[in-house]
Amino acid sequence: MLSSFPGGRSRRVVSAALVALVAVTVGPVATAQAQSSSLPGSSVGGGAGGTQCVVALDPGHNAVDTDEFDPATGVRMIDYPNGVENAEAYEIVRAVESRLSLAGIGTVVLKNSVDEDVTYRERVDRAADAGAFLGVSVHTTPGADQSAVFPQRQGGYRAGTDAAGEPRKVAFDNAATAAESERLSGIVAGARSVVEGGAVPVRDNSFAGRDPLWEGNLPVISLIADTPWVYNEFGSDTGGGAHGLTGAEKARYINGLSAGLIAAAATSPACTRLGS
Ligand SMILES: [Zn+2]
Repeated sequence: MLSSFPGGRSRRVVSAALVALVAVTVGPVATAQAQSSSLPGSSVGGGAGGTQCVVALDPGHNAVDTDEFDPATGVRMIDYPNGVENAEAYEIVRAVESRLSLAGIGTVVLKNSVDEDVTYRERVDRAADAGAFLGVSVHTTPGADQSAVFPQRQGGYRAGTDAAGEPRKVAFDNAATAAESERLSGIVAGARSVVEGGAVPVRDNSFAGRDPLWEGNLPVISLIADTPWVYNEFGSDTGGGAHGLTGAEKARYINGLSAGLIAAAATSPACTRLGS
């Protein structure tokens, strides 16, 4: 039912999601052509501020434990491999990348290999350097009802003890980016719901009680990015996170994300020449 789409998106958005669904499910799947970040779609379009028709794909987690303070915002950036999720998110991102290239959408993958050690700050800088109109984090988690999309929201925050030992709160403060993140999140969540066959709500995250992570409601990468960001979790019935997805779950996630990102691109000024 259209009225049950997460985020209450309009008919226009639903239509775009369904167009993307068709585009993804009709064609054969390319596997070998997407190892480069300089795909043909990189030169498509070009919106205001040097934005390109490029999606920045962020495979969740880091190859090793990392714990630094962001030099720009002061927020504490803790990341860790989380079992098989590190390698699995990378595999899913590369599969999504190959599908986006079929649709003429450029990509930049924010980690050069599954073993690369790269902070959240380095990732958001890579997305900005590529002129990405959208950043997309890819994670998995236990619980079939835990699929979700987290947008940047004005006032979304993290709070904890800073590098000087003082209490500090860092809040998201970019209304235009937050609005675009919310719009794109609704599109991605709607398409994911249809293709994955289960509700994918748009909502806030919660980092309460996860010490030493700073508490709050926005993932650190979303908080420190100036690029509109769409942070995804896929909830697994049997595993998820450190324990991994089944092959069937992985396929649903890849197809759902791909459909959502193609729909997102189709409604974005940076990609207005798509399909022309
Ligand atoms: Zn994760």
